[in-house]
Amino acid sequence: MILKKIKQKVGVLDMETNCYVIIDDQTKRCMVVDPIKDVKQILDIIKYNEAIVEYIVLTHCHGDHVAGVVELKNETQAKICIHVLDADGLKEEAKSLTYIVGVENPNIMPDVYLQENDVLTLGKLEFKVIHTPGHTQGSICLYSEGILISGDTLFKGTWGRTDLPTSSFQSIISSIENKLMILPNETIIYPGHGKSSIIKDEKKIYLDLKYY
Ligand SMILES: [Zn+2]
Ligand SMILES: [Zn+2]
Repeated sequence: MILKKIKQKVGVLDMETNCYVIIDDQTKRCMVVDPIKDVKQILDIIKYNEAIVEYIVLTHCHGDHVAGVVELKNETQAKICIHVLDADGLKEEAKSLTYIVGVENPNIMPDVYLQENDVLTLGKLEFKVIHTPGHTQGSICLYSEGILISGDTLFKGTWGRTDLPTSSFQSIISSIENKLMILPNETIIYPGHGKSSIIKDEKKIYLDLKYY
């Protein structure tokens, strides 16, 4: 597996967003997770690796994670995939918050409405969809043996914001504790912002957390 991370400041946000390009090195099938606005950077990686983009996967509908989706779709004809509960955010800026981020709302329909336990396949690579509501109601993580793409649900040392439309603090903690902290200790976490981590290093936070 080839996994490339591109980070970029999107719109007016101070922080960088992480975009991931994942390629099966045998079949060259590829998926792009959370395309950044500068799609050329993504296309350069795809061309260099002679990859074929099958999926554009959105971990959730927020503007900093969907900024490049329309252009990348036009360039690659890949299928746009988002959880069914975040799909309307691609049309509604009250949910995508693109007006705050400072990018255009995609105003597009997805090709694939993801649900819990769906599997996205690239050659022999399989990525399981884990529905992790909390940051938004339709937030997802992707799990493949040894790696977790965690969007804005799980970050190194903390979790995603829960003060936004369709957010829920109870849900994000429940998602992390019940669906992510059960993954193997050495699983590498690739979050939507900031540095990577491993499950083992994040567990202590959630074991110690008393939130009721
Ligand atoms: Zn977000
Ligand atoms: Zn974000």
